[in-house]
Amino acid sequence: EQIMGESLQNSKNVAWEDIAGLESAKTAFMEAIILPLRRPDLFTGVRSPPRGVLLFGPPGTGKTLIAKSIASQAKAKFFGIKPSTLTSKWVGEAEKLVKTLFAVAIVHQPAIIFIDEVDSLLSKRSGNENESTLRLKNEFLIHLDGAATNDEQQILVIGATNRPQELDEAVRRRFVRRLYVPLPTKEARQQIIEKIIAQVTHSLSSAEFSELASLTDGYSGADVDSLCRYALRAPLRSLSLAQMETVQLHELPAVTMEDFKQSLKVI
Ligand code: ATP
Repeated sequence: EQIMGESLQNSKNVAWEDIAGLESAKTAFMEAIILPLRRPDLFTGVRSPPRGVLLFGPPGTGKTLIAKSIASQAKAKFFGIKPSTLTSKWVGEAEKLVKTLFAVAIVHQPAIIFIDEVDSLLSKRSGNENESTLRLKNEFLIHLDGAATNDEQQILVIGATNRPQELDEAVRRRFVRRLYVPLPTKEARQQIIEKIIAQVTHSLSSAEFSELASLTDGYSGADVDSLCRYALRAPLRSLSLAQMETVQLHELPAVTMEDFKQSLKVI
């Protein structure tokens, strides 16, 4: 675990309720993944759950949130891997890291291995593939197959990608369950906005929340999050440097709809 330290993402607990919308994905995961990880004794043989899941869709739509939340719900240990750190720090050695990763996950099972940007790690581009990339891919396939065929192993691999068409064909086949994670609906955007604004003093009415949700058509969850954070800093931005030195948190003016209108121009 020490060796992997920097390649692992933090695994702060994410509650189901923290994810706005995506109801059908949540329902599918509850039955296919969470219950089997909690009661492996009931889901054996022909009832074995899928061991590879692919989440695909536009960036910033909550794929990482879902993976973390599944881990919390299933009481499983979460191992999040960012290929960018993996391949840059471990040139030519990445397959050793994959081996270590699965070995550590087995010790901690039930465990979820989450690979963000899985297309960049396991892409189908074959022309410029060097030997170490091939070794990495093979190592990965061996462990995915191991997890899929061994009922004793409670290891689930979740891959996330914005470019599923870039994924290696053999790898894609191992991700037997594939779920599209779409941009948020108006209702989901409103939920995200309300949840963030509720944490500060504001003067927005429920009609204005609804208006903001309409104005953010096409925004991802991450975009809506940035929009809110920019607006929430507006009361601080209005202060002079001298005021900034002495102002107390409770003296800050309330966040207004106008602050959001400004934020919409920037984000
Ligand atoms: P990427 O493809 O860029 O890795 P992703 O799909 O994994 O993105 P996340 O990292 O899960 O997206 O989401 C980024 C941030 O956007 C989250 O930390 C959260 O603040 C916000 N967010 C995105 N989708 C949702 C959602 N459905 N509900 C609540 N917050 C969301």
